[in-house]
Amino acid sequence: MALSKFKLCPACGEHNPPALLECKNCETDLTGVRLVDEDICQPQAR
Ligand SMILES: [Zn+2]
Repeated sequence: MALSKFKLCPACGEHNPPALLECKNCETDLTGVRLVDEDICQPQAR
């Protein structure tokens, strides 16, 4: 199974496709936002 990457909007927390340069929800500039994996959003069972 492949992890999909996305850009997490720093303003609203929207998950945006990597190709987007602006948040699809609030139009915040995402050019400086690093791609993250879905994996980091999983609750850590520690
Ligand atoms: Zn946003």
